[in-house]
Amino acid sequence: MKLTILGTAPGKSLLGNSHTSYLIQDDNSLFLIDCGEGTTQKILEKNLSKDELDMIIISHLHPDHLSGLFILLQTLYLNKRKKDLFLFLPESVDQITSFMEVLYIFKDRFGYKIITQLYDENSLAEIRVFPFNNSHLIGYKNIVDKYDLPNKLLSYSFVIKGKNKSLLLSSDIRSAEDIQAHAKQCEIMILDGIHPSYQGVKELIEQSNTEVYITHGDFKELQLKYADILSDKVKVAKENEEIIF
Ligand SMILES: [Zn+2]
Ligand SMILES: [Zn+2]
Repeated sequence: MKLTILGTAPGKSLLGNSHTSYLIQDDNSLFLIDCGEGTTQKILEKNLSKDELDMIIISHLHPDHLSGLFILLQTLYLNKRKKDLFLFLPESVDQITSFMEVLYIFKDRFGYKIITQLYDENSLAEIRVFPFNNSHLIGYKNIVDKYDLPNKLLSYSFVIKGKNKSLLLSSDIRSAEDIQAHAKQCEIMILDGIHPSYQGVKELIEQSNTEVYITHGDFKELQLKYADILSDKVKVAKENEEIIF
């Protein structure tokens, strides 16, 4: 399997960086996990043809993970894509489908079918992706309860099983504890370097002894923040970096 880091920017835009997205290729399929702003540009740089992408999986609905989706769908349509595209969402399928109509992304006009589905822990096993819940969005519980909003606070991290190694993609997490149990089963980690505490990240890395790519922030800021724990095995992620596993 090959994972390419397409975007490293967090919730705040950074000059010269794309927001979160990963392109993952195995023998049978090509898919994205997350689709932040800038993803379509990255895909154009890679010269992917209109029909190559099989599916898009969104870890949670923060804009830095979702905001590039709509222009990507439209670009594929304008490039005359014909193949079905699967879109896996953690929650709010109906609201996002309605929002597409707000954007004039109408099923009847598109030359390809967008098959939108809710996913859970077991839905993606066929592509060797194993999502698990994290507590990244739990801080919104009060406001969701107060206004009786439909938001389900669902946010996922992923274990991706390659031929030789397993990779843990944390996406956004609230604390290192969210992924601790899974980290032990993985040889490679792509780790949110901004939301969990420094101490939590440090201990997680020391305990798990995996190859680590710290991400989701400004490259220089993350290098400074984690200067004490960077090594041959622990690096700050760069865009377009490829990981084979
Ligand atoms: Zn984020
Ligand atoms: Zn987030």
